[in-house]
Amino acid sequence: MQRKTFIKAGALIMTTGIDNLSSLKKFSDGLSDEGQLMPVLFVGHGSPMNGIEDNEFSQRWEKMGKEIQKPKAVLVISAHWFTNGTKITAMDFPQTIHDFGGFPKELFDVQYPAPGNPQLAKETKSLIHSAGVQLDHDWGLDHGAWTVVRKMYPDADIPVLQLSIDYTKPPQFHYELAKELASLRKKGVLILGSGNMVHNLRMVNWSMMGTEGGGYDWAITMNDKFKSFITSGDHTSLINYDKLGRDAALAIPTPEHYLPLLYTLGLQEKKDEVSFFNDKAIGGSLTMTSVKISRSN
Ligand code: ZN
Repeated sequence: MQRKTFIKAGALIMTTGIDNLSSLKKFSDGLSDEGQLMPVLFVGHGSPMNGIEDNEFSQRWEKMGKEIQKPKAVLVISAHWFTNGTKITAMDFPQTIHDFGGFPKELFDVQYPAPGNPQLAKETKSLIHSAGVQLDHDWGLDHGAWTVVRKMYPDADIPVLQLSIDYTKPPQFHYELAKELASLRKKGVLILGSGNMVHNLRMVNWSMMGTEGGGYDWAITMNDKFKSFITSGDHTSLINYDKLGRDAALAIPTPEHYLPLLYTLGLQEKKDEVSFFNDKAIGGSLTMTSVKISRSN
């Protein structure tokens, strides 16, 4: 996979004028009494091609978009926005970022014109006390966000924001920061971590990339171990993944695709139920295994 990432130069537009009339209204006005808690998702996004292919993974994303209540907004923590400090997108119209190389033109042509919501960005910033969050006007929606959210909400009628992952911080920081976002679930915001639990691109075996998939022993072992910790609520072991031995080191050679999972788990509350979807290894060294955290009543 030619996944050499390039960072598209940030848009120079919209550095001013973000406080338009619509954003003066507080995002959460009138939403607090709905009482229905939004689920929280961790989605294994895999190849950017899942964003345009009609396959078992993207079909499941489409189905997920229909089976959960329609959110008022989506807040994505994507593996592909890995920054010095924590940032949140705060523009009215986030650009679609094609942050990959070596894929067909069809993928580069995709635009996902979901709006942003500057007011929600400000409210989210005010919820987070463990970090000084910067309001960002340059990023947009990277492929960790739009490939998944576009399949879930093809009409692009729901505001989508991204919260970046601060690469200077340890895993525990990310898990704790997520807890500060808890009230957004009650406000109808779908929080979605987008990465891959097992993600070792250097070891991808292309002959195992087909529809039947397949994983190396260590990838399957770690996928099962991660699921077992998630099911039993042993988040401490998942936070301290660097103590899980050689297989974990192979599964998480770099942390950016794993850390979105810790945001999702940080939002799990006692009464929540956990389920898995797209639980499959592909290419030997990747797993698409995804997590849904939701309240049954
Ligand atoms: Zn990725």
